[in-house]
Amino acid sequence: MSSKPDSKIKVETPTTPVSPTLDNYRVISSDDGSEEVEAHIEFMELAIQQANLARPIETAFSVGSLLVHGRKIISTGYSREIPGNTHAAQCAIIKSKSTSQAHLVKGSVLYTTMEPCSFRLSKNTPCSTNIIKAGIRQVIIGVKEPLTFSECQGVRKLLEAGIEVIHLKLLEERCLRPNIHLLR
Ligand SMILES: [Zn+2]
Repeated sequence: MSSKPDSKIKVETPTTPVSPTLDNYRVISSDDGSEEVEAHIEFMELAIQQANLARPIETAFSVGSLLVHGRKIISTGYSREIPGNTHAAQCAIIKSKSTSQAHLVKGSVLYTTMEPCSFRLSKNTPCSTNIIKAGIRQVIIGVKEPLTFSECQGVRKLLEAGIEVIHLKLLEERCLRPNIHLLR
């Protein structure tokens, strides 16, 4: 029996601190009504819809991702969408290659409900490495990865590669909700 999501989700899940010295890291914690913030909210909501498509399991998070260029959605992805224990960002990047917009991936923006991973136990490449290789210029995350499985260094790796990272702290509860069974 799965537990029902409720409003008691602990948003203050312990996570690894991000190096505050890198100036390509930004936190958005209030909705100022600006065009930029409204667009981030809109796309993150679509990423959350993707996360909600993932089948919950005990050994990995359920995450949703979206690759966007301008206002155009290039591709979407969610955890385990493609067979082989795949991650959301990985699926979005793989799927982008078979679209007519594959040429737009370089320089695009990735929305992801959770920080991209920096380490994989399986033979899969970490999402942060795939993001850097794909030439994605900006990554918007909904939450930092909780310390449930490992100490994620994804944001730090992206920042060090010169990618701009925005932590959109406005939809954290909804980004964590598909993972509530892993946070207790
Ligand atoms: Zn990953």
